[in-house]
Amino acid sequence: MTDKMKKTQIRTCIGCRSTDVKHVLIRLVNSKNGVMVDKTGKCNGRGAYIHNSGKCWDRILDGRVLRKALRVEDNPDNLLGLRKDIEKITTKMSFEVV
Ligand SMILES: [Zn+2]
Repeated sequence: MTDKMKKTQIRTCIGCRSTDVKHVLIRLVNSKNGVMVDKTGKCNGRGAYIHNSGKCWDRILDGRVLRKALRVEDNPDNLLGLRKDIEKITTKMSFEVV
């Protein structure tokens, strides 16, 4: 596979359900420690993609979408780490926007 092909991989955002090129999406992974933001893009586990956009985060934060996309158990603890990660990302984002 060439680099060019890698760059044009298309993934579906689990927030807004639209498709986009992989490199503009953030990977979430269902790891042993619960659902986390996969900062390296290389974590093992079932993954899902989402735009780095407040609109898209909002849609997954109730956990229902994530449970379906990542097949996580219906356990709020699974989403604790992710919520913290999202908070960090969105806080940074709003600083950058302002
Ligand atoms: Zn989206």
